[in-house]
Parts: sequence; C-alpha cells; structure tokens
Amino acid sequence: MKAVTFEGPFNVAVSDVDDPTIREPGDVILRVTSSAICGSDLHAYNGRIPTPVSGWVMGHEYVGEVVEVGADVEGLRPGERVVGGPYASCGECFYCRRNWPSQCMYQQHFGYGMLPGAQAEYLRVPYARTTLEKLPDSLPDERAILVGDVLSTGYFAVERGEVRAGDVVVVVGCGPVGLCAQMCALLFEPKVVIAIDSVPERLEMARKIGALPVDMSEGDPGAVIREHTERRGADVVIEAVGHQDALRSCFQHVRPGGAISAVGVYSEAEFPFPMFKAYLHDLTFRIGACPVKNYLAKLLDLIERGKLDPTVILTHTLPLAEAPHGYDIFAGHKDSCVKVLLRP
Ligand SMILES: [Zn+2]
Ligand SMILES: [Zn+2]
Repeated sequence: MKAVTFEGPFNVAVSDVDDPTIREPGDVILRVTSSAICGSDLHAYNGRIPTPVSGWVMGHEYVGEVVEVGADVEGLRPGERVVGGPYASCGECFYCRRNWPSQCMYQQHFGYGMLPGAQAEYLRVPYARTTLEKLPDSLPDERAILVGDVLSTGYFAVERGEVRAGDVVVVVGCGPVGLCAQMCALLFEPKVVIAIDSVPERLEMARKIGALPVDMSEGDPGAVIREHTERRGADVVIEAVGHQDALRSCFQHVRPGGAISAVGVYSEAEFPFPMFKAYLHDLTFRIGACPVKNYLAKLLDLIERGKLDPTVILTHTLPLAEAPHGYDIFAGHKDSCVKVLLRP
C-alpha cells in the first residue's frame, strides 16, 4: 500500500510499504478514508523529537472503514465507518478502568515509529473495541475526523480550566488546538474568549469562530485582557502552543484564583515555574495529554446537533500523494494553511 513515511527532518515521502494484517485477536484493519496532519506530527517533521529510525509511517488522526476484524472484536463489522484516537488503549488496565486511557499501561501510539501511522491506505488498530468509535452515516469524514485529537484536546483544555458562564477566557495560540479550544469554550457561555496569536489568517479564523482576536505582534495582549476584566486578569487561560514563552505568558494573563490549563506539546523537559506567584495568587495549574476516547461520542453528538462545526479550520484537502506538499505548507504556515486533510 501507499503510506507517508518519515525520512529525516523536513523530509516525508509517499512510499510503498507492506499492507497491515491482523496480529492480535483484538485488532481491526481499517481502510483509511481520511487522515489529517497534526501539529504533533510536526515535532517529528521538524526534527524536534529524537527519531533514530526513518521509514516509519506517520499520522494519528483518521477516519476509516472497517475491512477486517480479529476474533475477539465485538460490536464492529466490516463496512462500518469509525473514528479513533491517536493511541490505542487496552480498556482493562488500572488507568483505563478509571477512565484515563491516555495513561493506559499498554498504550500504543500511532505514527511515531511504534505503531505504523494513519497517513496510509490501511491501518491496523489494536484494542479496536476501546480505541474506535462508530460514525453515523450522517457525518462525513471532514466533520468527524477532528474529534480524534485536536477537538477533543480543545474540549479537555476547557474542561480542565473549569470554564463557567460569564468567564473571561484567554486562549494562547490560534493553531488547530487553540481554535478548537475557542470553539469549545464558547459552548459554556463565557463573557468573551480572547484569542492570542500573531498570524493574521489564524486570527481571522478565531474571529469567525466567535472569539475576540488579539494580535500579539501589534501590542500587549495584557491591555485587552485587563480592559475586559476590570484589570483583574482572565478567569481561565488555556495554553495551546507548546512553547515556554506561551506558557510563561499564561501566568501574566490569569487573575488571582484563576486557572491555567495547558495542552500544548512541549519539547523542553523543564520549565521555571513561578511558585511564589502561584502560591500568593491561589492559582490552579493543570497540564496533560487528552484522554481522547472519553470525548469521542460526546463531541460527535454535539457536531451532529449542529452545536460545533470544526470543519471551519480545515483549509486544505489533498490526495495522499501530495502529503509532502501538505507538510511543507502546514509547517511553514504557507498558503494560509491551518489544517490539512489527506485522502488516501
Ligand atoms: Zn494529532
Ligand atoms: Zn489500559
């Protein structure tokens, strides 16, 4: 089959690789109908995470059709359409039983050299029963695919920030996760969602979603935040960039007694935490990777009912063969690219 393979920093190729086969009784083989390129894929693409091997298949955001099921897979049949998260989780370990699949003891990530990824014609999904969610026919791929990672992560960020009606919410970053967090925050009837970035097209998209865009390259976002909060600072600040400077700014934007919810993926191992300020101001600080599976059904329902429309962030749809171009424009913010969908 054809698949997108990592060939070294800033180099992906569309290669011929072996078709996946059922290996464990809990496996399912999907024919991938859509696969997206994620900001986390760029950590590998940009050479920011150690990648000792090349030639592995990339990608972890997907919608597909079941073509084959293992002997132990109940409730999934060939022909059914499904969406799934960026990692397979067992459903039975200590963490899975406590609804925390992102800490599954037997977790397997797609697309980072461990499990072959989803930017391919076919995908093997271990623990299929607890990793995948069925899709209703009423939801086309482009409306469903983002629940598998960035939309769930946006919702998780909002939930962990405990956004309440009337709150002033700041979202640092207008990439796919930031825009999804803005969309999800608006479900909770905040007073305003202030969206910070410096890329004009992304700020424009934040405005379309219903947030108040603030261009940090044109002035201090703190002035806008103070203006909307009687100078207190924001009730909730969401970090959706994955960079120390962005995280540091959250501590400037949050009010005493407020919450910071960080979901950006960091490449730095450590961060100088402002302990004295956090103590004096009774701050809540939460950080983590989203337990995606917990949000799939809930978000699909909100999309079906018209409460959420993540398709607004999909700027480019390309055939799988053009994946290298997709990575190039996404990584370089070229051609107003926010999110790329690949069609194998
Ligand atoms: Zn992703
Ligand atoms: Zn588990």
